[in-house]
Amino acid sequence: MVGRLSIADALGADAFDTDSIAHLALSDPQLCVTCARRPCIQVCPAEVYHWEEGRLRISYENCLETGACRIACHVLGNRALVWNYPATGHGVQYRYG
Ligand code: SF4
Repeated sequence: MVGRLSIADALGADAFDTDSIAHLALSDPQLCVTCARRPCIQVCPAEVYHWEEGRLRISYENCLETGACRIACHVLGNRALVWNYPATGHGVQYRYG
């Protein structure tokens, strides 16, 4: 029997075909400044979101396309996040489901 991979190892095996155009955006960055909890930072398993120098940074290249950030932002945040799938042929390629 083959042993189970850890989540980190399984995610580490994934490949990304990164588009030069970001598929994650903000409708208004000022909404993030006043966002009380910034739940996007907490829920993203790929750590796509970081608060740096007074603004939200989005490392869309690492996106796993779960959509958790969109739900968190629109339910608990200030609804700034504009979430789309990457363009056809781009994005994450899962190796272990
Ligand atoms: S949850 Fe939405 S509004 Fe709040 S910091 Fe994240 S993207 Fe901005």
